[in-house]
Amino acid sequence: MIQSVRGTKDTLPSEISKWHFIEEKIREVTKTYGYKELRTPIFEKTEVFSRSIGENTDIVNKEMYTFTDKGGESVTLRPEQTAALIRSVVQNNLTHDISNLRLYYIGPYFRYERPQKGRLRQFHQFGAECISSPNPEADVEIILMANKLINRLGINQYTLEINSLGNDASRATFRKELTQYLNSHREKLSVESQNRLLTNPLRVLDSKDSNDRKVIENAPNILDSLDEESKKHFESVIKLLDTAKLDYKIEPNLVRGLDYYCHTVFEFKSNSLGAQDAFGGGGRYDKLIEQMGGKPTPAVGFAMGIERLILILDSIEDNVDLSDKTDIYVVCNDEKLFGVSLQITEKLREKNYKVVSDLNRRSFKSQMREADKFSSKFCIIVGDDEYSRNSVIVKNMQTSEQAEIAIDLLNTITFK
Ligand code: AMP
Repeated sequence: MIQSVRGTKDTLPSEISKWHFIEEKIREVTKTYGYKELRTPIFEKTEVFSRSIGENTDIVNKEMYTFTDKGGESVTLRPEQTAALIRSVVQNNLTHDISNLRLYYIGPYFRYERPQKGRLRQFHQFGAECISSPNPEADVEIILMANKLINRLGINQYTLEINSLGNDASRATFRKELTQYLNSHREKLSVESQNRLLTNPLRVLDSKDSNDRKVIENAPNILDSLDEESKKHFESVIKLLDTAKLDYKIEPNLVRGLDYYCHTVFEFKSNSLGAQDAFGGGGRYDKLIEQMGGKPTPAVGFAMGIERLILILDSIEDNVDLSDKTDIYVVCNDEKLFGVSLQITEKLREKNYKVVSDLNRRSFKSQMREADKFSSKFCIIVGDDEYSRNSVIVKNMQTSEQAEIAIDLLNTITFK
């Protein structure tokens, strides 16, 4: 038997209603904020990601599915959406003629990571980008929309962590200070952090190694390095979040793993996820569009992992009822009545009921058992005796009540 690739998962019919529920809520919430969907190809020229995410990030360094195609071009399965989305926005000139471009996306993403709970090699994200506003209002709109979705899914126990990486000048000052500090404690750091110190020192701050954490505890605070402009931006974001009555925790060690972020960065975290506790995150990226060949255009966005949302939903006890009930099971085991049964079944489907019937010519008893297995709310039994009176038996499976009903009257009944 051929097995699926490590770190990939089939979404089975028994789980699909959760996906549909989440997708439905995504479409519902994004619509209320005026966001429209953009779909890009699953793979892109490699430079779309290497140029934007950063050569020294884990994603570009270790995790991309990159291959040379038969024409000799290096292509990459998208590890995230923002860079590819911006490639599309620039290529299709979507910012032309619109003051704020609001986009969302849902789809599969690919990273060669070590699989564990909540970490896959093919996973799915939903995300949104608000393009063209340099202002804190845009950061807050994006955070509020992400938060609204989480709430609409019935998730109430989580933390929103927020930080500011400041503008380029502030970040350069901080990087220098941090590098100096970390260098003076170099020997106490893990090998991984020692390497990061050379390539991407800010990333040392989100190391989970316990010895690293002790060093990080006394590291300089990025918020102290913010210049006036950066400080003002961050304070306005915080003020607006307060006005919106959203709880948050300022976390100066939150840096995110991608190079293109500036100013506001944030993450949503949950206790029910184990080590991979972030289920969404994002931030502002004012230089990316320019870097991808567009006109200088500020932007802010976020991405959320759908598999992690499902893990959280599964951990909630009094969860929304996602059981996939059948409205009506039509029972018939008399070959000469199969045509009648089919007509009844099709008429009910025309009325949008979910109707199932047996295709294996099983006994009356087996069909009734299967009606139970499908959690059918009603059964319609098409039998010889009743049919001679142009009627069928309708059984309410929840109350076990049943009655003989004229076939012509079936369309007047509400099967709910
Ligand atoms: P990132 O852009 O890396 O912060 O990813 C945004 C969100 O996508 C994370 O908060 C996760 O919910 C999800 N995610 C990222 N990588 C993976 C992965 N390998 N497996 C499952 N979900 C992931």
